Amino acid sequence: MAWKTLDDAALAGKTVLTRVDINVPMEAGRVTDTTRIDKIRPTVEDIIARGGRVVLLAHFDRPKGKVVPEMSLGHVVPALEASLGRKVIFAPDCIGPAAADAIAAASAGDVVLLENTRFHAGEEKNDPALAAEMARLGDIFVNDAFSAAHRAHASTEGLARLLPALAGRLMEAELKALDAALGTPVRPVVAVVGGAKVSTKLDLLGNLVAKVDHLVIGGGMANTFLVAKGIGVGKSLAERDMADTARAILEKATAAGCSVHLPVDVVVAREFKAGAAHEVLPATACPEDAMILDAGPMTVAAIVKVFENSATLIWNGPLGAFEIAPFDAATNAAARSAAALTRDGKLISVAGGGDTVAALNQAGAAADFTFISTAGGAFLEWMEGKELPGVKALMG
Ligand code: ADP
Ligand code: MG
Repeated sequence: MAWKTLDDAALAGKTVLTRVDINVPMEAGRVTDTTRIDKIRPTVEDIIARGGRVVLLAHFDRPKGKVVPEMSLGHVVPALEASLGRKVIFAPDCIGPAAADAIAAASAGDVVLLENTRFHAGEEKNDPALAAEMARLGDIFVNDAFSAAHRAHASTEGLARLLPALAGRLMEAELKALDAALGTPVRPVVAVVGGAKVSTKLDLLGNLVAKVDHLVIGGGMANTFLVAKGIGVGKSLAERDMADTARAILEKATAAGCSVHLPVDVVVAREFKAGAAHEVLPATACPEDAMILDAGPMTVAAIVKVFENSATLIWNGPLGAFEIAPFDAATNAAARSAAALTRDGKLISVAGGGDTVAALNQAGAAADFTFISTAGGAFLEWMEGKELPGVKALMG
């Protein structure tokens, strides 16, 4: 791997500025889901075990360069202490004497948390002066916030230029999993791309057809591809003005030797609501007054067959309107098949995207996937083949 990890530096006696994502959901000043906090534990423990002093840098919400008391990281201290089982010393600023004093006051094994980096306007502008103020506080920079790596900010990119920079354990796991799925994958590779709209995933489709062996298109975006092939989709969600773009993607796929799989049968309904009367029809037979809300059973069987013949799966976007039953059926069945193949050691499965993660959880399939990225925007930009500034800065 081209990036350095915690294994590549001596940390004894060093102050380690550690960028994490603890932008956790909060209600009335209390953390309601500690997942992101729990995930930084391996990095924190590793640094302490090697004799380093952990100083956490993080953003919270969008204060837009101003001090907004409700967005203070002070609110997460109790949850952080509970999750880490360590004393957390909070500094009311991420630079200057307040930060330096908190760091000086920490005993071995304590964790220092600096205030919201976005309270300074220079953070999102990647202001070198702000990065230099941060750099003055420590000896080594560790970035464990893959989910913030698509943004070139002072605490993600600028700081990495000023100190020896390493990937934390969570960042390392994410980079390894993503590289295994698209960088240097075991072939054949199948990508599933679903969701609502083609227009939001153009770069993603364009990048994938050049890299994968099979592309399964589902969800609302499949309707746009059906339209591009001259097939009527009634009242379905479809972007009729994207037909040319969809055709260009199909041509690019053919040129690259990527097989594209579109729905052969579909579940249609007249109402977009749970339990709406529905029927299964050939994909070519959607009535004028109906809409396609899910892929049909023949399509699911074809997708499962592609999974069985693949070694690697990368998935973004549900196959149907999974929030309303029974239009979650195709997504659930495909997800469970991928989970079972992964459990049996026959498939490497990686998935990401806000709704995708929700859908895989709902299907009870997430735990069996090789890797589920919760990184949202950073995951999508990586799938689009874009270079993430926070990751690039770790490459030296
Ligand atoms: P992600 O957040 O994982 O990137 P998207 O936001 O692109 O995924 O897509 C998820 C949305 O797509 C869901 O709200 C789902 O209801 C919607 N969707 C999928 N298939 C259809 C369809 N056939 N008609 C309408 N909406 C659909
Ligand atoms: Mg979404």
